[in-house]
Amino acid sequence: MRRPPVILEGKDMEIEEMQPPAPERTLPHKWLPNDAKPLYSEPGGAGMYLFKSAEEKVRNHALSRVEEGLEVMGFLLGEVFTHDGHEYTVVRDVATTGLESTSVSVRFDPDGFEALFASLECARFRYVLVGWYHSHPGHGCFLSSTDIATQKGMFARPYHTALVVDPVRREMDAFCLVDGEVRRRKFLVYWDEYQNPYYGESVRSRKMRA
Ligand SMILES: [Zn+2]
Repeated sequence: MRRPPVILEGKDMEIEEMQPPAPERTLPHKWLPNDAKPLYSEPGGAGMYLFKSAEEKVRNHALSRVEEGLEVMGFLLGEVFTHDGHEYTVVRDVATTGLESTSVSVRFDPDGFEALFASLECARFRYVLVGWYHSHPGHGCFLSSTDIATQKGMFARPYHTALVVDPVRREMDAFCLVDGEVRRRKFLVYWDEYQNPYYGESVRSRKMRA
């Protein structure tokens, strides 16, 4: 995979102190696997806050290929903040492009890079690449050895998140690297004052083919 634009890597980024989204505007994802739930009853903030509209794009993308059993992937775009010594990201949007995918693998179509970078450059804000998402249709949420290699190669910073969605089992979970080891990351869906509260069950599979 070619490297993403430097502007989005967050290399010389100053991490701002910022209060995380208010608890009344956040919820754990409705598709959390059962074994992820204990983490959410522990005290402490989330490592990632996934804006409702970005979450819907990820889920719709995964659902759009579910009948063919194909994986999808894309980038998570947002900001990195710190609060009381705890670093977290806010994912505001996602970006993707043409994909070469099977039921067990996915990569960006080499011809799709130009379109992808164009869409990244069009992002209204100077987003940082805070991670990536991909789907495991019917296989559950985990990081495969290929996924771990991708994470170590491209998303090795502490704030980087790998969001995995299984549109068949209806599961979504998030992971990160801590000292090179894969760890589950607590993430919450949040919405702002202009959006309705989050109703995860209302999104339906959409046909995106012509
Ligand atoms: Zn995977």
